[in-house]
Amino acid sequence: MSAETKALVEEAIGIVCTQAKLDPKSSLAIDDMQARPSLPVHSPEARAGAERAQRLLPVAKELVVTSLLQLSVEYGFQKVPRFETRLRQAIGRVNAVKRVRPDMESRDNASVFLSRPHVITFGTIFLAGLRSDESMISVLAHELMHIADGDNDSLRPLVAAVGNKASDLTGLDIHGQRGEEITCDLIGAMAVRSYITGTPGYESIARRAARSIQHNCVEVDEGDEDHLSPRDTIRALLALNPVLVRELINNRQEQR
Ligand SMILES: [Zn+2]
Repeated sequence: MSAETKALVEEAIGIVCTQAKLDPKSSLAIDDMQARPSLPVHSPEARAGAERAQRLLPVAKELVVTSLLQLSVEYGFQKVPRFETRLRQAIGRVNAVKRVRPDMESRDNASVFLSRPHVITFGTIFLAGLRSDESMISVLAHELMHIADGDNDSLRPLVAAVGNKASDLTGLDIHGQRGEEITCDLIGAMAVRSYITGTPGYESIARRAARSIQHNCVEVDEGDEDHLSPRDTIRALLALNPVLVRELINNRQEQR
């Protein structure tokens, strides 16, 4: 990235994490969620989150399918015959997802057990910490993208291409599982962007867009072998997504 692009990415990160403090519906940061006590499934906050997730699941599925097709075109995979078949199967897996299961033990995580591919298991702390439709769609889309990839990593060529591009742009090591995680996050951000376009309202574009990645605005910034640190995740996502950078900075949506 040029110095100028880097500066724009840092400016956009500032907007996302400032909104985290100003927006009454902002997402809690992951490290804040991690520090909280477990939340019973029947607590009002967990129930409200579970209802939000279940209500938004159908729209998240549709948005993931569109975003996945769009990403395949962007990375030049739309005309690769073997990939087309895999893409069709991936979309079938997304369409087969039926419900969100709130789970106290999962705390601040959401996950998919590929033995039960119709269900997204969602920690109650996470359900309660995502306080907007935008943030919920982003996380649902992330999990749906794992389901799309399936237990054989069938979208590996696309995932690897996204990871390689993110590595090149940021100088960070974003290969293997990290490539998959960043691709899932990218699909999440793309899904939210389409959602904002489809549901105009009075809230500012920057505020709504920020919610798609805001849970990464941590104080304690630690990653592991499979995940970039949360703040590097925002950095890599914005590097991959210059449209989102401009929309955050200019506070207005661009045409497709
Ligand atoms: Zn993931």
